[in-house]
Amino acid sequence: MSSDPNCIFCKIIEGKIPSRKVYEDDELFVFHDIAPWAPIHFMIVPKRHIPSMAQVTADDAGLLGRIMTLAPKLAIEQGCRPYPDGGFRIVVNTGAEGGQEVHHLHVHVMGGPRPWLRG
Ligand code: AMP
Ligand code: ZN
Repeated sequence: MSSDPNCIFCKIIEGKIPSRKVYEDDELFVFHDIAPWAPIHFMIVPKRHIPSMAQVTADDAGLLGRIMTLAPKLAIEQGCRPYPDGGFRIVVNTGAEGGQEVHHLHVHVMGGPRPWLRG
């Protein structure tokens, strides 16, 4: 399934629900978390509706690689200080016991000066 009509992140990607967009390309959409845990907190999501990390396959290796290489670039652009004094945290909650609330794969990227609200 490439889009789920009941999925809030699919609606954000399609522009049906507003978001504060950070970046977009043909495969990925990036926007700020509405309830940030940290001074900088955005999420990288594939445009294709993949419910979670539990559904990824070897065919998604390129997509996941693109997400992980985009994260440090966008973190610096969004104001995270450079490694090693600055840095950022990447989190992918998966399933109920993994703390996942929105069932469209998303990679949280958080950073900025401590203390943070959470994490
Ligand atoms: P998770 O618990 O990993 O599923 O994270 C879902 C995240 O989506 C939470 O941090 C929410 O604050 C965030 N979120 C939910 N709705 C929206 C929205 N409309 N715009 C931006 N972020 C959202
Ligand atoms: Zn979706």
